[in-house]
Amino acid sequence: MTTDRTGGPSRASSLPLVASELAFDFTNTTSDRGGPSQLEHLREGRDVVLWARHAKVISDSDRDASLAAVEADADLAARLLAEALDLRDTIYRIGAAISRRQPPAEEDRMQLAAIHAHCLASARLSPFGDGFVWRWDASQTLSEAIRGPIALSALTVLTQQNLARIKQCEGDHCGWLFFDTTKNRLRRWCEMSVCGNRAKVRAFRQRHFEAKTVS
Ligand SMILES: [Zn+2]
Repeated sequence: MTTDRTGGPSRASSLPLVASELAFDFTNTTSDRGGPSQLEHLREGRDVVLWARHAKVISDSDRDASLAAVEADADLAARLLAEALDLRDTIYRIGAAISRRQPPAEEDRMQLAAIHAHCLASARLSPFGDGFVWRWDASQTLSEAIRGPIALSALTVLTQQNLARIKQCEGDHCGWLFFDTTKNRLRRWCEMSVCGNRAKVRAFRQRHFEAKTVS
């Protein structure tokens, strides 16, 4: 399993949620995949629970009960983490391929559809406002209650949204995905204040260096 090479604590409960879509916020629980600066914030079952509450997938009371459940049951915790990472990395591969204007692998599309179908089997169609929503019972099916809304978010984007708006941050050692909701569709960074500014500083240094070498 990958770990945060900085050795710092997981920020699962405080990561910026800047992707404009739940599914992509979920893929952004790690960065610089496979690279020298990889940060992994989902390292154990409890991190999945903490992120799910942070992203409002489950309620406060669900979080507390779920943390107690994964604390008491190592198998449940391990399965929760493995299933979450499987969904996360499937969505990531699909999103990253689309952002490069490449077709996502059939295997990944099939896997996403299979997870969706599996999770939906334990959901209830419940009244919400003037309409209905899918609801899961986290006390009965924790993994499905967390993965269900995330898989649904990914499928809603894939089936109903403009795929040209799916982008990957251009920052070095980042790789975060987001759905560009800006009017002009010119968003390039996960966060301007993080990757955008780093790129600006780098471009400035580069220009400064070139100017020096030329003069
Ligand atoms: Zn970034």
